[in-house]
Amino acid sequence: MNIIRSISSWNAGRIEKKINEMKDIGNCPDCKGNGFITTIASYYTPSFDLLYDCPGCNGTGQYSEWEMQQNPM
Ligand SMILES: [Zn+2]
Repeated sequence: MNIIRSISSWNAGRIEKKINEMKDIGNCPDCKGNGFITTIASYYTPSFDLLYDCPGCNGTGQYSEWEMQQNPM
C-alpha cells in the first residue's frame, strides 16, 4: 500500500504548507482567520445558526491562539 502512504505524506506536506502560510499572515489555519467554521448543511440552508465558533482558535481567528491549542501546556 505504498500509494496510500505516499498520498497521505503528500497531504501532510500540503497541510504543513498551508499552516506556514497562515502563520505568515497570523490567521488560524482551521478557519482561515474567520473565527468560525461552517458545516456541510450550511451550504444547503445558509443560516448563521449553522456557524460554529472555530474550536481550533476559540473563535478568535488568530494563529497565536490556534498554536496554543496545538501545544497545551
Ligand atoms: Zn480558527
